[in-house]
Amino acid sequence: MAYLSSPHVTHHFHDVVIVGAGGAGMRCALQLADAGHRVAVISKVLPTRSHTVAAQGGINAALGNVLSDHWLWHMYDTVKGSDYLGDQDAIEYMCRAAPLVVRELEHQGVPFSRLDSGMIYQRPFGGQSREFGEGGQAARTCAAADRTGHAILHTMYQQNLRAGTHFYEEYFALDLIRDEAGCHGVMAWDIAEGRFHLFQAKAVILATGGAGRIFRTTTNAHINTGDGAALALAAGLPLEDMEFFQFHPTGIAHVGPLITEGVRGEGGYLVNSEGERFMERYAPHAKDLASRDVVSRAIAREIREGRGCGPDKDYVLLKLDHLGRDLIMSRLPNIHELALRFAGVDCTKEPIPVQPTAHYTMGGIPANRFGEVVAPGSDGPETPVPGLFAIGEAACVSVHGANRLGGNSLLEIVVFGRACGNRVKKWLREHRYHHTLDPDCWKPGAARVTRWLEGEARNGARRVSEIRLEMQTVMQDHFSVYRTDASMREGLEKLESLASELAGAAIADRGGVFNTELIEAMEAENLMRLARVTAASAHARTESRGAHAHEDYPERDDERWLKHTLAWLEDDGVRLDYKPVRMRPMTVEPFPPKERVY
Ligand SMILES: Cc1cc2nc3c(=O)[nH]c(=O)nc-3n(C[C@H](O)[C@H](O)[C@H](O)COP(=O)(O)OP(=O)(O)OC[C@H]3O[C@@H](n4cnc5c(N)ncnc54)[C@H](O)[C@@H]3O)c2cc1C
Repeated sequence: MAYLSSPHVTHHFHDVVIVGAGGAGMRCALQLADAGHRVAVISKVLPTRSHTVAAQGGINAALGNVLSDHWLWHMYDTVKGSDYLGDQDAIEYMCRAAPLVVRELEHQGVPFSRLDSGMIYQRPFGGQSREFGEGGQAARTCAAADRTGHAILHTMYQQNLRAGTHFYEEYFALDLIRDEAGCHGVMAWDIAEGRFHLFQAKAVILATGGAGRIFRTTTNAHINTGDGAALALAAGLPLEDMEFFQFHPTGIAHVGPLITEGVRGEGGYLVNSEGERFMERYAPHAKDLASRDVVSRAIAREIREGRGCGPDKDYVLLKLDHLGRDLIMSRLPNIHELALRFAGVDCTKEPIPVQPTAHYTMGGIPANRFGEVVAPGSDGPETPVPGLFAIGEAACVSVHGANRLGGNSLLEIVVFGRACGNRVKKWLREHRYHHTLDPDCWKPGAARVTRWLEGEARNGARRVSEIRLEMQTVMQDHFSVYRTDASMREGLEKLESLASELAGAAIADRGGVFNTELIEAMEAENLMRLARVTAASAHARTESRGAHAHEDYPERDDERWLKHTLAWLEDDGVRLDYKPVRMRPMTVEPFPPKERVY
């Protein structure tokens, strides 16, 4: 404590500091705390309010409880779903581990729904097949009714309390403590008390979740502002594949809350204004259970061609009343409640109005399957950044490539949360002592707060909330389901001018204690960084793949574009580079790219 040159910063020592108390952060914390390590978990909200709690439909594992299944079929579906951009070693690792981690979750206390036989209930989800697409639909998604994320997050929290994990709740991470030797900690702001804290550790793990709030209409919680990814950018690291942002086909029209794919898994289907079940035209085999990019594009096309519903013809209908009240109330009770509350619709009697809605950040902090953050070497292959790890939606491993399959994200957070915990245990055996810090290392983090609490507004600057809303609108209008060169170029220009406006903005509340305006301003800074790299990455990719549908380049172009984007944010703007896709699995034959039909 004595060697920090500020009396206003409380200095904490832990073996590991994890930023994020969602499913990824807590699964990782459990692995480490159970091994006797001193683990700190920092979260800007109460742990059980992390967005994992909102996950509805379930978690994929080839258990074969309902229909025969095999992890290799799961792997095939995931590679195909990723439009061949996923790294096949990481995908193999995840699909092989899935049955083990799901059974482990059950033993830890997750109350999965049951079949009459007592086995874990599994429902069909989009993009799932048997026998490499030859054996029809699979039923691979293990569910706790339609509240699977809630069940997992609460179980993880309880297990961590038992294991003695230290939680720092309502602490906002400001900056990574980093030098040439690696990453040594995190600077944070205690939201309730308005004080600075320096968390020093031998390993730092970013598990800060997705960035859905870069868009105006999203299924994501207000807290999903991609803070960890923005910290990585600020530390000079690149982000990977940010142009691939998933639009979920069925957000409630105009407001955004998610209606799980599980509704279609249970037998619900989409209709247009003519009452036609249009997915039969777009995906003759999988129909409503084609992968999400395919269904979202189909809905967008129906709307664009004038077959949308409602006064503005801007949504389609999700019909599920034929499933019967009993099934809806036992398997989809939360959907019933959401439809009533947000659309005023009793879904046991009427269809739900839905439209594609920003949902999932496929890109993120480049990481390998051990959770190590990797950066390109100056003249050779990429290497791990010492002491820095990233897991969950904040990371890009990349198991989802250009399009994620439903049910694979809850799986990802548990599999790689656990794998990262194991890798960090090894790291801690090799790195037993805390690094000696530069006495001024806390200053850049603290400056992020003082800039807002003490800075003056540039003449004519608008409120932060206005700038943020305009940024979200630009992303929604220019980087949505379909993209064109001209529109993206215009969007990019608008973002650059909004970024400089934000740099000159100020806030009205100058208080330290529970200053939510301050937190929102720092989140807006993070969102702006991510929007800029997302937009630049998208504009540069002149092909269509997975969630990136470029109207001027409608075909996938494997010759030029079977590669991952890397984007840095530098003083003079976004810099892009690329790296190869890892096509070689760990033990099995690779799945080479082929045409993707459902
Ligand atoms: C509505 C909805 C439904 C979904 N349904 C499914 C589903 O059925 N199946 C599936 O597989 N996937 C689903 N997903 C996706 C999946 O839930 C998420 O990808 C996953 O839960 C993310 O977990 P995470 O641990 O990475 O992050 P999160 O759960 O988002 O947790 C992020 C954590 O980081 C903390 N944090 C962030 N920034 C800071 C900061 N600056 N300082 C301190 N702490 C910070 C937050 O407080 C939080 O604790 C769904 C997503 C949504 C939005």
